[in-house]
Amino acid sequence: MSEIERKTPIRLSKSSVGALEKDAVARVLDAGYLGIGEETRLFEEELCQYIGNQREVICVNTGTSALHLSLECLGVGYGDEVIVPSITYLASFQAIAATGAKAVACDVSLETGFLCVDDARKRVSSSTKAIMPVHYASHSKGLTEVYDFARESGLRVVEDAAHAFGCIDNDSKVGALGDVVCFSFDGIKNITCGEGGAIVTGDKQLAQRLRDARLLGVERDTEKRFEGKRSWSFEVRNKGFRYHLSNIMAAIGRVQLERIDTFSKVRRRCAISYARLLAPIEGVRLMDFDYEGVIPHIFVVRVTEGQRDGLASYLRQNNIECGIHYQANHRLDLFKTTYELPKSELLADEALTLPLHAELQEEDVLYIVRKVQEYFDSK
Ligand SMILES: *Cc1c(COP(=O)(O)O)cnc(C)c1O
Repeated sequence: MSEIERKTPIRLSKSSVGALEKDAVARVLDAGYLGIGEETRLFEEELCQYIGNQREVICVNTGTSALHLSLECLGVGYGDEVIVPSITYLASFQAIAATGAKAVACDVSLETGFLCVDDARKRVSSSTKAIMPVHYASHSKGLTEVYDFARESGLRVVEDAAHAFGCIDNDSKVGALGDVVCFSFDGIKNITCGEGGAIVTGDKQLAQRLRDARLLGVERDTEKRFEGKRSWSFEVRNKGFRYHLSNIMAAIGRVQLERIDTFSKVRRRCAISYARLLAPIEGVRLMDFDYEGVIPHIFVVRVTEGQRDGLASYLRQNNIECGIHYQANHRLDLFKTTYELPKSELLADEALTLPLHAELQEEDVLYIVRKVQEYFDSK
């Protein structure tokens, strides 16, 4: 086959939405009730079914507010500390900062990008209230150790599972077990609502606080809204926010949930092809990932020998978008640490994310791998 040059960029990530989502939105618009209501109630019920284990599901307007609200309702605030891996989306750090608590960065495993418990141990103080493990690139290896550590140290666990919706860990869906598990349904995640998020927990008391707190702390307002009513006289005892998920967004999410198996097949197949085809290329190091039961949100490799930025710009010249997941947050001015986190720093310098989404074609993967090979051949 002759070398085909791409005229339209291969996107790093994208939503996969179509006629079904349009119909769902139109249905809500026609019904004329756009805020939190019946669609949100049904989406929560369907998420609950999908995740299993009779968990409490509270939908909110973003993944970031899911994290923030969880911490708030656990009583985390000014003077407290929350341990979080340095390699994560800025949202994890800002959600902690929003409570007034201090985000305490810890190191990650170079092979998996997952929080390193041995390092987290060094970060505990008398002010530590919680730990926020991140399901980096949709993988959960290391989560059991986090829970053991949290139990020993008396910490609550708020999982940032923004990448891991629909994934299986320990023979059950992510969210079916664990203390407090937060998902994101933003535009490029495994499923989308446009923007959206959900908190999943087995703690019924916490769940009620979360339901109230997403609607300004008005007690039992969720129950009223689900009946198409609202509270005109009410009691408020706790701080609250406007973090609820609207009917419009929930309607999109309900369609996406029905399509998740199709998305999952494409994402997993592309990730497995990448891993197989990139394995022989020197200069590229695969992460230590097993794709069994995983719906990969992103495909990350490490590019060693200082070649990451060179490879990234070569790929971009060839119309292949790529990204970096992530910069090390402890190097940002706001979250600067006095200590070094060597593995996070190395991963931040070597990580390169290749295109992965539910509309990526097998031939796109072949083209991308060929361009990666070409780059190293030219060195
Ligand atoms: C997307 C994401 C979030 C935030 O979710 P939003 O819905 O975009 O607010 C948090 N953490 C991680 C790791 C994410 O990838």
